[in-house]
Amino acid sequence: MQSRYRFTCAWLADGWHRNVVISVDPEGDIVDVSADDTVTAARMINGAAIAGMPNIHSHAFQRAMAGLVEQRGGKDDSFWTWRETMYDVASRITPDCLNGVAAQLYADMVKAGYTSVCEFHYLHSPGDASGEAHSHEQRLAMSQALMDAASTAGIGLTLLPTLYQTSDFGGAPPTERQRQFSMETREYLDLLDALRQSSQRSPQLEVGVALHSLRAVPPESLRAVLDSQRNGQPIHIHIAEQEREVQACLERTGKRPIEWLLDNAPVDRRWCLIHATHATPAELQSVAAAGAVVGLCPTTEANLGDGLFPMETLLEAGGAFAIGSDSHISLSPIEELRWLEYQARLARRQRGVLTDGKLSGGALLWQKACTAGARVSGRPIGELTAGKRADVVVLDMNSPLFAARSDDSIIDTFVFSGTSESVRDVMVGGRWLVQDRRHFAETAVAAGYKRALQKMFKRDRS
Ligand SMILES: [Zn+2]
Repeated sequence: MQSRYRFTCAWLADGWHRNVVISVDPEGDIVDVSADDTVTAARMINGAAIAGMPNIHSHAFQRAMAGLVEQRGGKDDSFWTWRETMYDVASRITPDCLNGVAAQLYADMVKAGYTSVCEFHYLHSPGDASGEAHSHEQRLAMSQALMDAASTAGIGLTLLPTLYQTSDFGGAPPTERQRQFSMETREYLDLLDALRQSSQRSPQLEVGVALHSLRAVPPESLRAVLDSQRNGQPIHIHIAEQEREVQACLERTGKRPIEWLLDNAPVDRRWCLIHATHATPAELQSVAAAGAVVGLCPTTEANLGDGLFPMETLLEAGGAFAIGSDSHISLSPIEELRWLEYQARLARRQRGVLTDGKLSGGALLWQKACTAGARVSGRPIGELTAGKRADVVVLDMNSPLFAARSDDSIIDTFVFSGTSESVRDVMVGGRWLVQDRRHFAETAVAAGYKRALQKMFKRDRS
């Protein structure tokens, strides 16, 4: 039995239409989108429907430290000092805590308009086991905690178990703290195999590959993993976030990280290069030519002082980008998108910098991030059309913010001036998870989150 919904207006691949009926089958797939109003027996939804946004980069546990690292830690405060606090938080995590933190995070993402998430997951053992070798069962339990959290919140999940082996270029062994993340290549491939069996059971779950970074994955391990993965699943990697790692890569290999990767790996449309922050124009030309997606997380990159990504250069080269909330200092797709444009404006001292000459600014950012984000999520999402998952964000057109707005000015107003209040309802995989700004499980999820944080930080108070 199909469900049919008639929206006041909807943004489809060919632009805005009024009176759009979207039909969804019981599996949660869109089976028909019709812009004529002869379809009867559809439930009326008073609002503007747009495709939900894929969040392409998340480290769920880091939500627990949002706001805890804003006191200046001396004149050299940087990504590298922030990382010490992150390791401390990681050392407090159990599968239970991870589940509690991630369920709240994912529910909050859905309320903001993210309908799927790529979880770049390197916390392979409970923090209290740090220093000891971890077992396959422990690794499975940590992954399962995330899969259960996604299922509780209802968000689509691309789980990216992450390979992490060394603390720097040249095969330096992991530090004591990093042992919680590290494993042998064989153990990693076993974990992938086990998790893929779960993913075959749900259209809401995909399992891809993540290589933590070139500093954490030696070339021989990178090749072994890539040789074993030829089935089209997404491959994500942190690539050039910090100038220090670009320098280390140059010293060790004679090449910059993006340059080295393109020369040594079969980079193609499956690949998502997270934080390609320090990229030269030539590198971005090559990334665009390979069809890879650049994964940007502007609020985290700003919070960590990473540097400005040359977005205009990527777009001029015809390159694709998607967005993620990464450390979750902010959970808002519109904030990530507007900062891409604002960074470019501040650098150029001009307005309206990111453009393709066709779409308006907000529309261009939302549509391109949706399309490329879907591709590197490895799931059929990112567009309101037959054959895709029914992931729909409904904007509240009764809000004063949207008065006298139509077509692309709706999405421009949402991206540049919207707040968390602008999203009224959210459907994921055919289920209404958020109605009237309430997530169906928010009370239970909030209680679980508070319990998890009390457990994680209790030793600070005793
Ligand atoms: Zn990351």
